[in-house]
Amino acid sequence: MKALIFVLYFFLAIGFSGTVSYADESHVWSLHPAKLAIGQVGLFSISDVPATPPKAGAFLGRPVYFHPGLGRLTALLPVDISTPPGKYPLTIEYQHVHHGTKKVITIQVEVQPYEFPVEELTLPEKMVTFPEEILKRIQDEKKAVDAVFEKTSASLLWNGGFIKPVAGDIVGLFGSRRILNGEERSRHLGVDIRGTEGTPIRCANSGRIALAGDFYLLGSTVILDHGQGVFTIYCHLSKAAVKEGQQVAKGDSLGEVGATGRATGPHLHWGAVICGARVDPLSLIEATAMIADK
Ligand SMILES: [Zn+2]
Repeated sequence: MKALIFVLYFFLAIGFSGTVSYADESHVWSLHPAKLAIGQVGLFSISDVPATPPKAGAFLGRPVYFHPGLGRLTALLPVDISTPPGKYPLTIEYQHVHHGTKKVITIQVEVQPYEFPVEELTLPEKMVTFPEEILKRIQDEKKAVDAVFEKTSASLLWNGGFIKPVAGDIVGLFGSRRILNGEERSRHLGVDIRGTEGTPIRCANSGRIALAGDFYLLGSTVILDHGQGVFTIYCHLSKAAVKEGQQVAKGDSLGEVGATGRATGPHLHWGAVICGARVDPLSLIEATAMIADK
């Protein structure tokens, strides 16, 4: 009997579109992409819990928001760039449909290691070393930007797959360790997309403008709140075309590509934060690619 239970405790991989499905002794669930690495977000689906949103979910100390659809529940699972690789529990809490009793499911999700690239850049020294008053301004601005991610719309504002805001090539990768003028200074917490000055920047998904302002390093910046902790960030704009509090739809123009702040040429720095986790925005496109627009 023990052996039989052991045999039932198996992993079954179905390799289509990079999605992997698993069945353990009690649940059938899937993850897209199949391998979730540090600094990425994946789409988790489970088909054998009641298709009403569970009361609560948690993964890596962050809330997980489930959405019903097609007889399954799906949720974004973000893994912050600083998370060590390993197996982490995803807990799903819900009320039993008939008896109203509380049920908690725990699923072990594997987080893969990822070797982030190293980028060496030579910049004018004044773009790397700052006098004290500028350093103070940079620190204050960082606090102000980080505070934006604390306040999110409780309802889901995004809809269907996320899109790339500018069509150009990726010229700076997410997570790269940046050696500026021979010294390791910072991690690159977004992707850089090439674009000529004035190219319209499209909203990666629907949401509300949480911030539109000017910053020393980031330049003219817009932060879009997509609800339930999902934010996308757009920096170095030549100009922003939106105001804080404004509702926007996926594909709307939010401004134009520029080179404001610390930028050596026109490009869009695009970032994503999910419930405080810094993730590669390109992985948000990949994770949501199969979700149809409503
Ligand atoms: Zn950048």
